[in-house]
Amino acid sequence: VTDRPNPLAENLERVRRRMAEAARQAGRRPDEVFLVAVSKTVDPARILEALRCGVLALGENRVQEARDKWPVLEAEMRRRGAEFHLVGHLQTNKAKDAVRLFDLIQSLDSERLAVELDRRAAEIGKVQRVLIEVNTSGELTKFGVEPGEAALLIETVRSLKALQLEGLMTIGPLGGGPEAARRAFRTLRELREANGGPARLPVLSMGMTQDFEAAIAEGATMIRVGTALFGDRG
Ligand SMILES: *Cc1c(COP(=O)(O)O)cnc(C)c1O
Repeated sequence: VTDRPNPLAENLERVRRRMAEAARQAGRRPDEVFLVAVSKTVDPARILEALRCGVLALGENRVQEARDKWPVLEAEMRRRGAEFHLVGHLQTNKAKDAVRLFDLIQSLDSERLAVELDRRAAEIGKVQRVLIEVNTSGELTKFGVEPGEAALLIETVRSLKALQLEGLMTIGPLGGGPEAARRAFRTLRELREANGGPARLPVLSMGMTQDFEAAIAEGATMIRVGTALFGDRG
């Protein structure tokens, strides 16, 4: 009888323990932080396994890849009530597909995209949940609205009837260690405070495999983890 442990289940358990410890150190409850398993480049069979291990949300970064995987995942996701999130950059010409596929679009970063998502959501009678992505690290390679322009985009999105703004998202700096990460995450938390606080922007999506402890320390309510669950993407 082979009794090999399931590495995905182990990885998930390890991530949940790291989350709980980070929450405890920050004086927060572990259940205040929601885990999104980032399944980009992971094949659907392993994603199904992750769902069976209890993952409640999947994050993809490309509309086309998500659309290809969806037929395999749909039944299991519906059965478990799992959510499908877009975490990667969205081009306006993919807005229609994105609105059909995703429960939460985390990467809204321009007025033009907001208007198009609103139009496409209204067309199918959906209220599309969204997060506004903010570039908190100043890295030129990153998408996301500049912190100084966030308030205006927040107001615009709040005025659009078919969009429901749930919060803010950011990607931590590539280098600089935990201090640089914390500074970036603090910027996102301060933007939330300046724009209605947790009552109006409940979600702070920040933190990935390398830096989610720092994000939880700064108030993350949602973290997005790929590598620590599925291994290196190669
Ligand atoms: C890939 C990705 C993640 C997950 O990154 P890991 O380092 O593998 O945990 C999170 N958020 C976004 C936007 C990503 O593109």
